[in-house]
Amino acid sequence: MNNSPYRCPIYGNPTSCNCASCAIERRLRASREAVKAAEIANLSRPPAPRPKNLDDFFVSPKESPREKIERQRRERFAESDKTWAYVQANEGRYAVIFIPRIRSLVLWYVKTSSTF
Ligand SMILES: [Zn+2]
Repeated sequence: MNNSPYRCPIYGNPTSCNCASCAIERRLRASREAVKAAEIANLSRPPAPRPKNLDDFFVSPKESPREKIERQRRERFAESDKTWAYVQANEGRYAVIFIPRIRSLVLWYVKTSSTF
């Protein structure tokens, strides 16, 4: 942004001159002040309370039983997708924990069943 102080092209007083350049400069300055004031207001205002359950917040209360079933179905799908993604992301961890246990169980079973 241009930080040099504004100067009227016809050497008028920027606060009272009637040239277009000064008029635009005054509007620009007023806009900058408004933005600054809005930013200060936004920063000083406490954040709006977030609804606990966003789904409940956005679903209209006039939801029909059919719509409710559809929504619950979508939610179940989303939940199982999330679970699946979690399992896939942790596959390596599960393998490290369970494979040695399963292997030792199988070995124990083979050993005990072969003593018959
Ligand atoms: Zn001017």
